[in-house]
Amino acid sequence: MNAQTPSPAFHGSGLELVGLSMAYGSFDVVREVSFEVRPGSTTCVIGPSGSGKSTLLRGINRLHEPKSGEVLLAGEKTSAMVPERLRQRIGLVFQHFNLFPDHTALDNVALALWKVKGMPRAAARERAGRALAEVGLAERADHRPRDLSGGQQQRVAIARALAMEPEVMLFDEATSALDPELVKGVLNLMAGLGRRGMTMVVVTHEMGFARRAADQVVFMDEGEVVERGSPEELFDRPRSPRLQRFLSEVL
Ligand code: ADP
Ligand code: MG
Repeated sequence: MNAQTPSPAFHGSGLELVGLSMAYGSFDVVREVSFEVRPGSTTCVIGPSGSGKSTLLRGINRLHEPKSGEVLLAGEKTSAMVPERLRQRIGLVFQHFNLFPDHTALDNVALALWKVKGMPRAAARERAGRALAEVGLAERADHRPRDLSGGQQQRVAIARALAMEPEVMLFDEATSALDPELVKGVLNLMAGLGRRGMTMVVVTHEMGFARRAADQVVFMDEGEVVERGSPEELFDRPRSPRLQRFLSEVL
């Protein structure tokens, strides 16, 4: 972290998945997934394409309604929360950042604050400026997305989520669309959020990141949690043949 700009700590909340199942029509995609994410900890979810990782994240913040099971945020049932409020408390960053091309970085962050949160414009822009500073983009606040690198655009998207002051951040392959030389900077930013106490669930193909940044790694295959534990347990001592095969393909 930059010693000249001490960043404030986050107050991440705990998350608990209890038998969470998700389906598209009659097609079961996530089956009885249970695990706990302690406040301020980072859980990395790994697994083959199509194993249900994105759907799991969409269940956590209820972009897709679970079939059964429950998700607890700070001990409260998310099924009882207003979805819009839940999505402020649990931020989600996607592979594709979906910024408004005709708005500056600052307005991309501020828009959600005045539209979704109903903040007055001046206050929204002030908070947006702080969020951009947090992701190292204070100098780029007036740039439009096309004048930013892919990595900087993804930082704007992260700032947009952080500006909502979430208690949990979900990342769905946030670096998969980036040019290789831009990946590291975004991963370092994410690791920094984790060190400062944000609670994070990170779906990633970056095994190096999972190894160094995760407190817990969850391996999913065919909608199920096949194995779960510390990075050392999963990467150095994988028990299941499915995880062993997956690691032999990606490492
Ligand atoms: P992952 O993120 O691990 O690649 P997904 O959660 O995207 O996996 O997908 C899990 C399964 O659900 C896949 O078989 C996928 O084809 C299917 N699926 C994903 N989204 C939809 C959808 N909107 N409608 C129907 N099936 C879907
Ligand atoms: Mg996915």
